[in-house]
Amino acid sequence: MSNTTAFQKVTALRGMNDILPGESAQWEALEAMLRQWLSLYGYQNVRTPVLEQTRLFARGIGEVTDIVEKEMYTFSMSADRQELMTMRPEFTAGIVRAAIEHNMLYDRAQRLYTMGPVFRHERPQKGRYRQFHQISVEALGFPGPDVDAEQIIMLARLWKQLGINDIRLELNSLGQLEERRAHREALIAHLEKHKDILDADGQRRMYSNPLRVLDTKNPAMQQMANEAPKLFDFLGTESKAHFDAICQRLDDAGIGYTLNPRLVRGLDYYNLTVFEWVTDRLGAQGTVCGGGRYDGLFELLGGKTAPAIGFAIGLERLLALWQDVAKVQTAAECDVYFVHSDAQSARAAATLAEAARNLGVRCIVHPGSASFKSQFKRADASGARLAVILGESEMAEGKASVKFLRADAQGATAAQFSVAQSELATALTGKLQDQ
Ligand code: ATP
Ligand code: MG
Repeated sequence: MSNTTAFQKVTALRGMNDILPGESAQWEALEAMLRQWLSLYGYQNVRTPVLEQTRLFARGIGEVTDIVEKEMYTFSMSADRQELMTMRPEFTAGIVRAAIEHNMLYDRAQRLYTMGPVFRHERPQKGRYRQFHQISVEALGFPGPDVDAEQIIMLARLWKQLGINDIRLELNSLGQLEERRAHREALIAHLEKHKDILDADGQRRMYSNPLRVLDTKNPAMQQMANEAPKLFDFLGTESKAHFDAICQRLDDAGIGYTLNPRLVRGLDYYNLTVFEWVTDRLGAQGTVCGGGRYDGLFELLGGKTAPAIGFAIGLERLLALWQDVAKVQTAAECDVYFVHSDAQSARAAATLAEAARNLGVRCIVHPGSASFKSQFKRADASGARLAVILGESEMAEGKASVKFLRADAQGATAAQFSVAQSELATALTGKLQDQ
């Protein structure tokens, strides 16, 4: 009979990756380190929905940004397209929405973090995906500059902890609205002078968001961007003092930085402090972390004005930089693997494994039936330290045999022993502790 099945394989979407065991062990190890690191600074976890109203991002990120103009996954569940919703392209807008909705700042400032997948419709390439992961860390209700510096210092600690030393800090200040207005006029004049070399994005944004034109990655526009009037030169005393105070704390902590006057960040809602941590080790996708102050966002989203600062790290890029990532061992599937000889002993194995799990022993019972030889092969591959054998003779005596699957440091393997089934669970915990 010819095999003409018409079922086609279904594959994952482009730019959206599966993370399989082995690699997922690295993710879990990284996430555990991140949680521990966050707890050192008093940050607490929040979780917001993946889907939000589109206007949250349109308003919160800014209409004239790469994300909102081109990258959002937006759809409607109603025929009239009245209610548009978007897969979160970043976390900050959602966290601020939640803080407003639940009145979280009414009696105190909040240090919050979240991690998980975010979605952007970009051209997939190394270090750039359509579903990727961020950790987003937000200090809400803090005017700074102390907390601004603390966030940067805490990031320096993280790099150190992960053995990442080829990463540099770029810093800038976007000042306040009035300062940006004065700069804007000068900048537009400069852009008008160089109109002929602006690309389509540049032409379109020249008046709607001229600062963003400087954020261009287009090589032909670099010189024009470098020569543009610098926002930093338009800062007043207060903004300068805020910036200087941060620099002082970074000096105290021995953290080097470069002032990058072209650093504006992709998102519209930043003011004063903006920073990025960049590495040369990841090719073109070298920005690992970006952050800054967004004192205007609460008001923009309909809340009471509150100062805030935060940053986001791309976890795929962080994982790629982590020096000891290869040393993360995939955890053994279990401590104890149960093998059995027939239907009756398989039932006994299921019950005995439940009793052992009550004491916290991680168990796998061999599924179905198979020869002892192939069951032991699986037991070995599982990484278990012990095998429990329920054969005919064991069952006849109400006993179980326990076999050691791993040699000790001297290369010796302890002898197999036999134990009453009623004592098995305690015997297993005892042996697992000894080893
Ligand atoms: P880029 O200039 O690389 O597009 P961005 O300014 O859009 O970055 P942010 O919005 O600040 O990036 O996101 C914070 C971090 O998330 C980035 O520094 C980066 O590490 C990571 N990141 C952003 N976009 C992607 C993506 N498509 N795939 C993987 N990681 C990403
Ligand atoms: Mg981007």
